Amino acid sequence: MSEIFNSHIVAQLAQEIKDRSIAESISILLRNYPNAVTFSTSFSYEDQVITDLIHRHHLTVSLFTLDTGRLFPETYSTWSRTLEFYQTIIKAYYPDATEISEYVEANGPNAFYESVALRSACCHIRKVVQLKKALQGQSVWITGLRAEHSPVRQDLTELEWDEANQIIKYHPLLSWATEEVKTYVHQHNIPYNPLHDKGFISIGCAPCTRAVKEGEDFRAGRWWWEDSSKKECGLHSHQSTKTTGA
Ligand code: SF4
Repeated sequence: MSEIFNSHIVAQLAQEIKDRSIAESISILLRNYPNAVTFSTSFSYEDQVITDLIHRHHLTVSLFTLDTGRLFPETYSTWSRTLEFYQTIIKAYYPDATEISEYVEANGPNAFYESVALRSACCHIRKVVQLKKALQGQSVWITGLRAEHSPVRQDLTELEWDEANQIIKYHPLLSWATEEVKTYVHQHNIPYNPLHDKGFISIGCAPCTRAVKEGEDFRAGRWWWEDSSKKECGLHSHQSTKTTGA
Protein backbone atom coordinates (compact mmCIF):
# COMPACT_ATOMS: atom_id res chain seq x y z
CA MET A 1 0.00 0.00 0.00
CA SER A 2 1.18 3.54 -0.71
CA GLU A 3 2.60 5.91 1.84
CA ILE A 4 -0.28 8.31 1.12
CA PHE A 5 -2.85 5.58 1.79
CA ASN A 6 -1.15 4.57 5.05
CA SER A 7 -0.89 8.19 6.16
CA HIS A 8 -4.61 8.55 5.51
CA ILE A 9 -5.31 5.53 7.75
CA VAL A 10 -3.12 7.02 10.47
CA ALA A 11 -4.93 10.37 10.21
CA GLN A 12 -8.26 8.57 10.70
CA LEU A 13 -6.90 6.70 13.73
CA ALA A 14 -5.55 9.96 15.13
CA GLN A 15 -9.08 11.34 15.04
CA GLU A 16 -10.38 8.20 16.80
CA ILE A 17 -7.94 8.51 19.68
CA LYS A 18 -8.13 12.30 19.97
CA ASP A 19 -8.84 13.35 23.59
CA ARG A 20 -8.84 9.72 24.77
CA SER A 21 -6.73 8.42 27.64
CA ILE A 22 -3.66 6.35 26.82
CA ALA A 23 -5.41 3.11 27.85
CA GLU A 24 -8.46 3.97 25.72
CA SER A 25 -6.23 4.86 22.79
CA ILE A 26 -4.37 1.55 23.01
CA SER A 27 -7.71 -0.29 23.21
CA ILE A 28 -8.80 1.45 20.00
CA LEU A 29 -5.56 0.46 18.30
CA LEU A 30 -6.03 -3.14 19.47
CA ARG A 31 -9.58 -3.17 18.15
CA ASN A 32 -8.32 -2.04 14.76
CA TYR A 33 -5.26 -4.35 14.80
CA PRO A 34 -5.96 -7.37 17.05
CA ASN A 35 -2.80 -9.25 18.08
CA ALA A 36 -0.64 -6.81 16.12
CA VAL A 37 0.15 -4.06 18.61
CA THR A 38 3.59 -4.30 20.21
CA PHE A 39 5.59 -2.24 22.69
CA SER A 40 9.39 -1.93 22.82
CA THR A 41 10.79 -1.46 26.31
CA SER A 42 14.28 -0.55 27.45
CA PHE A 43 13.06 -0.38 31.10
CA SER A 44 13.46 3.41 31.25
CA TYR A 45 11.17 5.54 33.41
CA GLU A 46 8.95 6.18 30.39
CA ASP A 47 8.81 2.54 29.35
CA GLN A 48 7.92 1.47 32.89
CA VAL A 49 4.94 3.86 32.83
CA ILE A 50 3.70 2.31 29.59
CA THR A 51 4.34 -1.24 30.86
CA ASP A 52 2.30 -0.37 33.94
CA LEU A 53 -0.60 1.03 31.90
CA ILE A 54 -0.63 -2.05 29.65
CA HIS A 55 -0.86 -4.40 32.64
CA ARG A 56 -3.10 -2.23 34.80
CA HIS A 57 -5.70 -2.11 32.01
CA HIS A 58 -5.15 -5.72 30.83
CA LEU A 59 -4.31 -4.62 27.31
CA THR A 60 -3.25 -7.47 25.03
CA VAL A 61 -0.14 -5.72 23.75
CA SER A 62 2.99 -7.84 23.24
CA LEU A 63 6.20 -6.58 24.88
CA PHE A 64 9.73 -6.93 23.59
CA THR A 65 13.21 -5.64 24.39
CA LEU A 66 16.48 -5.44 22.49
CA ASP A 67 19.34 -6.89 24.50
CA THR A 68 22.45 -5.41 22.91
CA GLY A 69 24.77 -7.35 25.21
CA ARG A 70 26.21 -4.05 26.50
CA LEU A 71 23.47 -3.00 28.92
CA PHE A 72 24.04 -1.87 32.53
CA PRO A 73 23.68 -4.46 35.32
CA GLU A 74 20.97 -2.15 36.73
CA THR A 75 18.99 -2.50 33.52
CA TYR A 76 19.09 -6.30 33.76
CA SER A 77 17.93 -6.12 37.36
CA THR A 78 15.07 -3.76 36.40
CA TRP A 79 14.13 -6.22 33.66
CA SER A 80 14.00 -9.06 36.23
CA ARG A 81 11.99 -7.03 38.71
CA THR A 82 9.54 -6.03 35.98
CA LEU A 83 8.93 -9.68 35.04
CA GLU A 84 8.33 -10.52 38.68
CA PHE A 85 6.15 -7.49 39.42
CA TYR A 86 3.78 -7.99 36.49
CA GLN A 87 4.20 -11.77 36.06
CA THR A 88 4.54 -11.04 32.39
CA ILE A 89 6.43 -12.13 29.28
CA ILE A 90 8.88 -9.84 27.52
CA LYS A 91 10.39 -11.27 24.35
CA ALA A 92 14.12 -10.56 24.04
CA TYR A 93 15.96 -10.08 20.75
CA TYR A 94 19.73 -10.55 20.46
CA PRO A 95 22.31 -9.47 17.90
CA ASP A 96 23.65 -12.00 15.43
CA ALA A 97 26.77 -13.59 16.96
CA THR A 98 28.65 -13.76 13.63
CA GLU A 99 28.01 -10.09 12.86
CA ILE A 100 29.19 -9.05 16.33
CA SER A 101 32.25 -11.25 16.10
CA GLU A 102 33.25 -9.83 12.70
CA TYR A 103 32.71 -6.24 13.85
CA VAL A 104 34.77 -6.71 17.03
CA GLU A 105 37.56 -8.58 15.24
CA ALA A 106 37.83 -5.83 12.62
CA ASN A 107 37.41 -2.82 14.89
CA GLY A 108 37.83 -3.79 18.54
CA PRO A 109 35.24 -3.99 21.33
CA ASN A 110 34.92 -0.21 21.88
CA ALA A 111 35.23 1.06 18.31
CA PHE A 112 32.06 3.15 18.71
CA TYR A 113 34.18 5.89 20.31
CA GLU A 114 36.29 6.27 17.17
CA SER A 115 33.78 7.62 14.65
CA VAL A 116 30.07 8.19 14.03
CA ALA A 117 30.27 5.56 11.28
CA LEU A 118 31.62 2.87 13.62
CA ARG A 119 29.14 3.87 16.31
CA SER A 120 26.26 3.69 13.84
CA ALA A 121 27.49 0.29 12.61
CA CYS A 122 27.50 -1.02 16.19
CA CYS A 123 23.97 0.33 16.80
CA HIS A 124 22.87 -1.21 13.52
CA ILE A 125 24.15 -4.69 14.41
CA ARG A 126 23.10 -4.61 18.06
CA LYS A 127 19.76 -2.79 17.75
CA VAL A 128 18.39 -1.96 14.31
CA VAL A 129 18.56 -5.47 12.83
CA GLN A 130 16.85 -6.90 15.93
CA LEU A 131 14.18 -4.23 15.82
CA LYS A 132 13.27 -5.18 12.24
CA LYS A 133 12.79 -8.78 13.42
CA ALA A 134 10.70 -7.70 16.40
CA LEU A 135 8.38 -5.60 14.24
CA GLN A 136 7.71 -8.30 11.69
CA GLY A 137 3.99 -9.10 11.47
CA GLN A 138 3.07 -6.13 13.71
CA SER A 139 0.88 -3.20 12.68
CA VAL A 140 1.41 -0.78 15.57
CA TRP A 141 4.60 -0.06 17.50
CA ILE A 142 4.20 1.72 20.85
CA THR A 143 7.27 3.62 22.08
CA GLY A 144 8.26 5.63 25.15
CA LEU A 145 9.68 8.55 23.16
CA ARG A 146 9.35 11.98 24.72
CA ALA A 147 9.86 15.25 22.86
CA GLU A 148 12.12 16.58 25.64
CA HIS A 149 14.68 13.84 25.03
CA SER A 150 16.06 15.10 21.72
CA PRO A 151 15.88 18.18 19.46
CA VAL A 152 14.87 15.97 16.52
CA ARG A 153 11.87 14.66 18.44
CA GLN A 154 10.30 18.10 18.98
CA ASP A 155 8.19 17.97 15.84
CA LEU A 156 6.91 14.39 16.19
CA THR A 157 3.22 13.70 16.68
CA GLU A 158 1.76 11.02 18.94
CA LEU A 159 0.62 8.88 16.05
CA GLU A 160 2.60 8.63 12.83
CA TRP A 161 3.28 6.42 9.85
CA ASP A 162 6.85 5.04 9.88
CA GLU A 163 7.68 4.49 6.23
CA ALA A 164 11.11 2.97 7.00
CA ASN A 165 9.60 0.23 9.16
CA GLN A 166 6.19 0.13 7.42
CA ILE A 167 4.35 0.44 10.70
CA ILE A 168 2.14 2.84 12.66
CA LYS A 169 3.98 4.33 15.63
CA TYR A 170 2.28 5.53 18.78
CA HIS A 171 4.19 7.68 21.29
CA PRO A 172 1.73 8.08 24.18
CA LEU A 173 4.14 10.02 26.43
CA LEU A 174 5.43 12.35 23.75
CA SER A 175 4.28 15.51 25.51
CA TRP A 176 4.86 14.35 29.09
CA ALA A 177 7.32 16.32 31.20
CA THR A 178 9.99 14.55 33.26
CA GLU A 179 8.18 15.38 36.50
CA GLU A 180 4.94 13.79 35.24
CA VAL A 181 6.80 10.58 34.42
CA LYS A 182 8.56 10.50 37.81
CA THR A 183 5.32 11.24 39.65
CA TYR A 184 3.55 8.36 37.91
CA VAL A 185 6.36 5.92 38.72
CA HIS A 186 6.50 6.91 42.38
CA GLN A 187 2.74 7.21 42.94
CA HIS A 188 2.20 3.70 41.57
CA ASN A 189 5.31 2.32 43.26
CA ILE A 190 6.46 0.48 40.17
CA PRO A 191 9.97 -0.90 39.55
CA TYR A 192 12.38 1.50 37.84
CA ASN A 193 16.02 1.65 36.89
CA PRO A 194 18.01 2.96 39.93
CA LEU A 195 20.38 4.74 37.53
CA HIS A 196 17.66 7.40 37.14
CA ASP A 197 18.37 8.37 40.77
CA LYS A 198 22.05 8.89 39.89
CA GLY A 199 21.54 11.48 37.13
CA PHE A 200 20.94 9.11 34.22
CA ILE A 201 18.05 10.28 32.07
CA SER A 202 18.00 8.34 28.80
CA ILE A 203 19.58 4.94 29.54
CA GLY A 204 21.04 2.84 26.77
CA CYS A 205 24.21 0.74 26.52
CA ALA A 206 26.69 1.12 29.39
CA PRO A 207 29.70 2.32 27.35
CA CYS A 208 27.57 4.94 25.58
CA THR A 209 25.55 6.38 28.46
CA ARG A 210 26.60 8.64 31.33
CA ALA A 211 24.86 10.67 33.99
CA VAL A 212 23.76 14.19 33.06
CA LYS A 213 25.10 17.09 35.12
CA GLU A 214 22.94 19.94 36.40
CA GLY A 215 22.12 22.34 33.55
CA GLU A 216 23.12 19.90 30.80
CA ASP A 217 20.77 18.97 28.00
CA PHE A 218 18.74 15.76 28.38
CA ARG A 219 20.62 14.06 25.56
CA ALA A 220 24.07 15.02 26.89
CA GLY A 221 24.36 11.62 28.56
CA ARG A 222 24.15 9.63 25.32
CA TRP A 223 27.12 9.41 22.87
CA TRP A 224 28.52 12.54 24.54
CA TRP A 225 31.57 12.56 22.30
CA GLU A 226 29.39 13.25 19.22
CA ASP A 227 27.62 16.31 17.80
CA SER A 228 24.26 16.53 19.59
CA SER A 229 22.26 16.74 16.34
CA LYS A 230 23.49 13.25 15.34
CA LYS A 231 22.51 11.47 18.54
CA GLU A 232 20.09 8.87 17.25
CA CYS A 233 20.79 5.18 16.99
CA GLY A 234 18.71 4.33 13.94
CA LEU A 235 15.75 2.86 15.82
CA HIS A 236 13.69 5.96 15.16
CA SER A 237 14.34 7.31 11.69
CA HIS A 238 12.18 10.48 11.96
CA GLN A 239 11.30 10.29 8.31
CA SER A 240 7.85 9.27 9.32
CA THR A 241 4.79 10.96 7.93
CA LYS A 242 3.22 13.15 10.55
CA THR A 243 -0.46 13.50 11.26
CA THR A 244 -2.36 16.03 13.25
CA GLY A 245 -5.13 15.65 15.75
CA ALA A 246 -3.54 13.13 18.17
FE1 SF4 B 1 26.96 -0.14 20.35
FE2 SF4 B 1 26.94 2.02 21.95
FE3 SF4 B 1 25.05 1.69 20.03
FE4 SF4 B 1 25.08 0.15 22.23
S1 SF4 B 1 24.69 2.39 22.11
S2 SF4 B 1 24.74 -0.53 20.17
S3 SF4 B 1 27.31 -0.14 22.55
S4 SF4 B 1 27.26 2.03 19.77
